Amino acid sequence: MTDRSITVNGRRYAWPKAPVVVVCIDGSEPAYMDEAISAGAMPWLAKALPQGTKRLADCVIPSFTNPNNLSIVTGAPPSVHGICGNYFYDRQAGTEIMMNDPKYLRASTILAAFASAGASLAVVTAKDKLRRLLGHGMTGICFSAEKAEGTTKAEHGIDDALGFVGRPLPSVYSADLSEFVLAAGVKLMERFRPDISYLSTTDYIQHKHAPGTKITNDFYRMMDGYWAKLDAAGATVVLTADHGMNAKHGADGKPQILFLQTLLDGWLGDGKARVILPITDPYVAHHGALGSFATAYLPEGADAAAIAKRIATRPEIELSLTRAEAASRNFSAFDLALNYAQAVASPAPQRRAV
Ligand SMILES: [Zn+2]
Repeated sequence: MTDRSITVNGRRYAWPKAPVVVVCIDGSEPAYMDEAISAGAMPWLAKALPQGTKRLADCVIPSFTNPNNLSIVTGAPPSVHGICGNYFYDRQAGTEIMMNDPKYLRASTILAAFASAGASLAVVTAKDKLRRLLGHGMTGICFSAEKAEGTTKAEHGIDDALGFVGRPLPSVYSADLSEFVLAAGVKLMERFRPDISYLSTTDYIQHKHAPGTKITNDFYRMMDGYWAKLDAAGATVVLTADHGMNAKHGADGKPQILFLQTLLDGWLGDGKARVILPITDPYVAHHGALGSFATAYLPEGADAAAIAKRIATRPEIELSLTRAEAASRNFSAFDLALNYAQAVASPAPQRRAV
């Protein structure tokens, strides 16, 4: 049994020798952990790192939660799994569509594949928006902290997750939401010892606070405590992030903004192009409406290559690509968290902000 493996989306994954817990720390720019470790806030990780594996890798583009969580659980870039943003613009319907529906998912997940091969699975997300995508086609336990109340065995693989975890239902805008996820992971390990767990937190804290601040160090200290418990239970702990985080304000405290829609209106006429921003997200409170990525949908007949080039001449723009160029770029420089888990007993690959 030890050399048993399964293949998903062209990659081979070894059967876990010990329970594997993959934690996707939302928005965890590597500096958060580096600073927390130097402040002495992460005693477990500080001790585990020298015996583990640490890798820095790029996330997939766009550097959002949904595309990257799906890349982690499919082992494939968005050009394969189909989740290319939190939102896309449906030209036929003339409206923005949120990519939360599994109908947009084109690839099967590693989680579903292991579950159908007989592994026991547990998935806990902070927000409910990810739950249906991550749990698509998967048998096992799958619920969100946000909607932990009233879960059913039929839909979520567990009755009354809230009662099971034994913590109050957290607010969607809080550090508690992430803590609930990790507390659930520990409880599930104690009770069911799943072969594979996937725990996905929320970046509420990282969006609001820089690395090295008391609030972020406390947040990472809290997480470190749960990872220590999972390690003590004999699990292989894999820590990764969906994307990093960078400041959207200059040293003077002013936001650094380029209004791409205004620029394109000036070039093409009012409302001819449609700019879709990362902030098109139902959970807007912690984003402050600023992001570093935009998709521009151009009108019929527009010269996309020329416009992309023209946008690239702006000093605020790091990279501007046509749709075909963007889709063909290989952003799968990351290796999958689960593969690290086969080789090492401890963490921690991380992703770089883009
Ligand atoms: Zn995220």
